[in-house]
Amino acid sequence: MVSESLELERRHGANNYHPLPVVISTASGAYVTDEDGRRYLDALAAYSAVNFGHGHPRLIEAARRQLDRVTLTSRAFHNDQLGHFCAELAELCGMDRVLPMNTGAEAVETGIKTARKWGYEVKGVPDGQAEIIVADGNFHGRTTTIISFSDDPSARDHFGPYTPGFVRVPYGSVEAIAAAITPNTVAVLIEPIQGEAGVVIPPEGFLQSLRRLCNQENVLFIADEIQAGLGRTGRTFACDHEDVRPDLYLLGKALGGGIVPVSAVVGRDDVIGVFGPGQHGSTFGGNPLACAVGREVIAMLGEGTYQANAAALGERMKQRLDAAVLPGVKEVRARGLWLGIERTDAEPPARRFCEALLTAQAPGPAGPAGLLAKDTHETTIRLAPPLVITAEEADWIVDQLVAVLAA
Ligand SMILES: *Cc1c(COP(=O)(O)O)cnc(C)c1O
Repeated sequence: MVSESLELERRHGANNYHPLPVVISTASGAYVTDEDGRRYLDALAAYSAVNFGHGHPRLIEAARRQLDRVTLTSRAFHNDQLGHFCAELAELCGMDRVLPMNTGAEAVETGIKTARKWGYEVKGVPDGQAEIIVADGNFHGRTTTIISFSDDPSARDHFGPYTPGFVRVPYGSVEAIAAAITPNTVAVLIEPIQGEAGVVIPPEGFLQSLRRLCNQENVLFIADEIQAGLGRTGRTFACDHEDVRPDLYLLGKALGGGIVPVSAVVGRDDVIGVFGPGQHGSTFGGNPLACAVGREVIAMLGEGTYQANAAALGERMKQRLDAAVLPGVKEVRARGLWLGIERTDAEPPARRFCEALLTAQAPGPAGPAGLLAKDTHETTIRLAPPLVITAEEADWIVDQLVAVLAA
């Protein structure tokens, strides 16, 4: 069946994405259903924005309750959700203060502004000279400043002039970061696991060493946990795997429960405290609907069951994939329910395998008819199923992958 929406999108939408050919019309839990009634297990979960599955009853209820009360006030006034949201998120992070925004890119921009202002006003860097160290292969969003320090040509080319003040070094090397630090360095901005790069996990001990280095050098450690955080890796934060707490957490994606865009920068008093009235803000940031949904997300994470399920099933999937004979596969990287399956060759591209997974076969009449996964960088198939999947569903995902990779 030809989808009217797809045709209209092709004709009238900007062509800035290359979606797999599935037109989703409804979703529930780990499953989505397309316009023709085909079911798919959603093993991408909107790049971790749907960590709790589609339409989780607790999140829908929290949103519905708030829809009937008040949705948007602007920060010209207080609302009765914001204070609770900030307090509860700060506690989850072991921090003092929260600066709420909407999208992930805005959280990253806010982190950059925080670090620069801290550098000038607390560290004493000469005005206009602040430097921030970032990593090769980074993905932090799409604003002009953020793409200024990307090394992905499609993200960057022809969008200059670029924002200065960033130094890029190889990912996972504390030595390279140490060598790049100058008296003007205010922060190291890093993904504790690189998501868009293909679930790239740094060498063991990297986060600990980076924490020590940043302490020694009086440089802020900013962890972009927008995709890695909030349960995805089997812990609340990816930094938890090395018992490390950064100076700033950047959060987004799952914080909005898959319902509304909610992001935040979370840090100590002495860092977030650099902001005064009028120096930063957002019309929608901290709105009561976002805060109500965010509070329910925080409460759910406080129970620990999503993290535990992600840890157990991620380990199970990783073990089964490692034990399977997967022709052409160079490496399976996994941390919790976040997997990158990297092929040796870019031919056929990883997208072909994702297309094949769309027509994977159902195990029974009630089972899914296909599997949604997404390629990244030609060679990697990335999986990030909702943290609510069962062991049977985890096994089914592995079976489909093994079948498609072997074909
Ligand atoms: C998705 C993502 C962002 C940007 O978030 P948006 O909501 O798309 O702006 C930033 N950093 C990381 C690590 C991400 O995965």
